[in-house]
This record gives sequence, structure tokens and C-alpha cells, in this order.
Amino acid sequence: PIYLDNFSTTPIAPEVAKAIIDAWSLPSNASSPHTMGARAEAIVAEARGDVANLIGAAPSEIVFTSGATEANNLILLGVAEAAVVAGINRRKIVLSSIEHKSVLVPAGTLEDRGFEVILVPAHDTGVIDMRALAAAVDDRTLLVSVMGANNETGALQPIREIVAIASKVGAYVHSDCAQLVGKLPIDVLDLGIDYLSISGHKMYGPMGIGAAFISASALKPKAIAFGGGQQAGVRPGTEPVPIIAGLGTAARLAGSRMELDAAHGTLLRNMFLDELSSLNSDVEIITQNSETLPGTVCLKVNGIIADDLIESVQRQMSISTGSACNSGQVIPSHVLMGMGFGQVVARSIFRIYFSRYNSKQDAIESAFILAKAIGHLRHPAGQPRQ
Ligand code: PMP
Repeated sequence: PIYLDNFSTTPIAPEVAKAIIDAWSLPSNASSPHTMGARAEAIVAEARGDVANLIGAAPSEIVFTSGATEANNLILLGVAEAAVVAGINRRKIVLSSIEHKSVLVPAGTLEDRGFEVILVPAHDTGVIDMRALAAAVDDRTLLVSVMGANNETGALQPIREIVAIASKVGAYVHSDCAQLVGKLPIDVLDLGIDYLSISGHKMYGPMGIGAAFISASALKPKAIAFGGGQQAGVRPGTEPVPIIAGLGTAARLAGSRMELDAAHGTLLRNMFLDELSSLNSDVEIITQNSETLPGTVCLKVNGIIADDLIESVQRQMSISTGSACNSGQVIPSHVLMGMGFGQVVARSIFRIYFSRYNSKQDAIESAFILAKAIGHLRHPAGQPRQ
């Protein structure tokens, strides 16, 4: 099948796979006091530099985690804990309602610990309501957490404006950039972000690895797991050298071909949409009026349940609705509900992401397959057209 479910996970780059295999042949722990250990340590240090370089951070500001989920947990729970320990009397956390569950759920647990969590809604364009955000952020706010790009719509969020609002009252800013890092340029220093989350498998890197950027000038989060002293104790545990090497390679690769990848994604998306509209398939683009990640499109198929459509084309193409983590449940996506869509409309929406490894033929063929399947679902065989 044509793979277009790149919001869920991207294929691994061949260069990354090679870096992982090469590093796997080195049987050593980066903390070991011998030559082999030093080699493993050098691999980790190089990858840390590559990840830092991709986002304009210093290597010492990068903490490897098992993915963006863990980075989000570390930052939300760890910063809250650090504030309590340091006697910082701010107990308010402001999030958007379209955040990933790995931000929303840990924030929810903070409510049980006496924090107030405010959810800012999004417009139907997929961009958060900045007026509501500005009204919510005050001098009791410890942390504002808004993602860089949404994983269901691809919509980019106004991080620079969010930092401007938060910094006026001395609140820290975290951005879950699992979908954005490696796809669009981002410079943490220039933006003034305090914390950022990265995921390997969303940028043609391996699963099971990610990173947290923790600015040297921000409150250092308390660890959420305890053990040895690796990574300054913020994230103890033996560094998984092979997949760290993979993440470093993915970061280097993404940095060197970012414009190329973005132009390719945009070309394929436009070819796909042109083809789809020429086939008269009556689909609506949800994110028509917002800036999105290159290569992405979020579509509404009126009168059709998107999951039925996805099932009917699954032998020819792989696409999905909502957060992949929700698939299998018929609960409509909280992101689409957070944008103000009702349950019925939310269930008619799905997303597509043309990656670095999709071809022009994929774009044309997938439009054709979808248009045909939509036609069948609207007018099942044997039923007269209305
Ligand atoms: N945040 C966003 C925006 C995501 O899209 C994802 C992956 N679905 C995550 C966090 C979780 O990332 P990971 O799989 O690396 O834990």
C-alpha cells in the first residue's frame, strides 16, 4: 500500500538504519571506563551535538529520552516538582486543548497535586485562540505548553507570540515539537523557548528515542525516574547508543535537506489536491486558511465516516484519522473537538502527510483511489444516485 500515515510515524531513513547497525556492533556502555566505553560516549556526544544543532541549542541543553511522550512528561511533571521544591509560588499551567495526550494527561495529574490547569481552545483553522491564551496567562502561571505543529491537522502554532505573552509575566514556555523538528527550521534561542520535546520516529529516525531541550537559563526539571547519574541525573539509565546514533543521523540529515523535503512535500500535496478536485470528490480542506507543515493536508469528506473510508482503501493505501493512539476507539479526536467540531463532523475528517519518501505517483494514485472509494461509499452499488 501507499504509505501516507506519516503523522503517525515516518519511515526510517536508510542512512539512519546504517548508523544504528554500525553503532550496534560496538558492545559498550557510554559510562564504561575503557576505550570501547569512550567510543560509545563519543557517539552519544556527537549525536547530542547534532540534535542541539538542528534546533539552535547547546549540546548540554539536550537530554535523551525514550521519545516525545517521556520528554513531555519530564518537562510538565519535572518543572512542576522543581517549582514546588524551589518555593516558586506559581500553580497555574496553561495548555492548548489540541495538545497530544502525553501533555494533557500529565497535566491532569498535576491538578491532583494542587495545580490549576487551563485549556485554551483552538479555532476551526487548527490554530489556537491567542486571545484566550493571553487572557489565561498571568503572574501565577508557571508554564505555558503549546505544540509547534499539530499531529492531526499539521497546523503551525504561533510560538513566538506565545513566548512574548508568557515572558511578560515570567512564565516558562514548553513546546511539544514532535511533529515540527526536522521538518521546518526552529531556533530555540531566537524564539526564547525554555523547553521543547523531540521524537525520533517523526523525523525519519528510530522509534524509542527522543529528546528534551531544557534551556540553561530555565528551571531545571526534577527527574521523574531515579537511578544512576547519567545525563546529569535528569534522565538516568544507560544511554541506548545505537538509537541515539540513529537520532543524531536523522537530525543531521533533516538539517541538510530541510528545504528539499519541504518543497517535495508541498509539491506532492498540491498534485494530490489538484487531482482530487479534478475527480470531483467533494472534499473540504480543513486547514485551508492556516499555515501547515509542508506535505500535510487535513480533509473532511461530507457524509462519510472517515474510518469507513480508511478501511475501504486499506489494501491500497495507509492513512488514519485522529491520533493513532486513539485508533480502535470510536471516540472522536479531542483535537478536532478542541477546534470546535461536533462529533459527527469530527468523524468525517482524516489527515494525509506526504513524506520525503513518497513519490509523485503516490500523490496521483492516492487521489484516484480516494475519489473512487468516496464515490462507492456515497453511492453503494445497486442504490440509485439521488
Ligand atoms: N507529541 C506529538 C505532537 C505527537 O504527534 C506524538 C506522536 N504521536 C507524541 C507527542 C509522542 O511521541 P513519541 O511517540 O515519541 O512518544
